[in-house]
Amino acid sequence: MGQKSLISASIPLDRDGVARGHLRIPHSVHDSAYGHIPVPIAVAKRGEGPTLLLTAGVHGDEYEGPLFLYSLMRQLERLDLAGRVIIVPSVNQPAYLAATRTSPIDQINLNRSFPGSRDGTVTQMIAHYVSSELLPLADYAIDMHAGGSSLQYLPTLFAPTWEDGEKKAAVAGLIAAFSPPRVAYFDSLKALDGQDRVFGNVADQNGCHFLTGEFGGGSTVNLAGKAMLEAGVTGVLRHLSMLPQAAPSTAPFPTRHLTISDADLFAFAPAAGIFEPAFALGDELSAGALAGFIHDPTTPWNPPVEVRFKGGGLAICIRTFASVKPGDCLGHLARDIAL
Ligand SMILES: [Zn+2]
Repeated sequence: MGQKSLISASIPLDRDGVARGHLRIPHSVHDSAYGHIPVPIAVAKRGEGPTLLLTAGVHGDEYEGPLFLYSLMRQLERLDLAGRVIIVPSVNQPAYLAATRTSPIDQINLNRSFPGSRDGTVTQMIAHYVSSELLPLADYAIDMHAGGSSLQYLPTLFAPTWEDGEKKAAVAGLIAAFSPPRVAYFDSLKALDGQDRVFGNVADQNGCHFLTGEFGGGSTVNLAGKAMLEAGVTGVLRHLSMLPQAAPSTAPFPTRHLTISDADLFAFAPAAGIFEPAFALGDELSAGALAGFIHDPTTPWNPPVEVRFKGGGLAICIRTFASVKPGDCLGHLARDIAL
């Protein structure tokens, strides 16, 4: 990975105990000579055991992950922990403070910037720090997302599709422990648009087992998504023997296994205009079902353009903004799979 990151942590990441502090991104600019950007981080470590990295706020307009992690950060002294938990609730802090998906400093999407660059822009420096300093410490990572400003999700755990038997078994164990109502399998080495500059790819390159998920969206707080994270991460910590086992109280939640790895499950705007959806989150759509209409506001007496999903499945994602331009994602489905 080359030279050491220019970002430093104000707390040790390798000592027993609980520490809370900041990552310091050097940022000497017009209104802040010698300044830095502080990014909150917390570490809890006790004895031997695996390291679990918990991150959110890679996109700055997603809130379920950060708010769950705030509450976990406040409770670290109360955990009967074995191993180490590293928490960064708003990895792209400049974007998070601006409530935008991309950074207001360099306009870059952090999750299209990995492995990043030591000498790059602020977002590229953050990506490089995660790739070269945090992920090498982690045996497991959960990076929490949501739909952000432009999309709403039915809260869903996302997990990599692996052929490799060992990785597949490890991820299956994590999913069972997380016990989500839904898990969507996807290619974690690439974004939906094919770009491989993503968190999941560098996690895998570091030998780190990785889960992610979309826990709400719409630039607001989905409480069901936050509750899913709380129960899921607790289950994972117990599964990894990082927390004591709980007495079994109820039967495990039944999990629906889905895939999103099919272009037919996605609908994109073919034209600019006003999007009127014909489906809602949670709907079960058959192949060819109507996704919605796009009205032309300049000739509104003309019939609207019909948009259809080629495939069928459970509607887990829908666009929030009615105003669309060609290429905007209108929503997507997830199809049941047999394991
Ligand atoms: Zn995101």
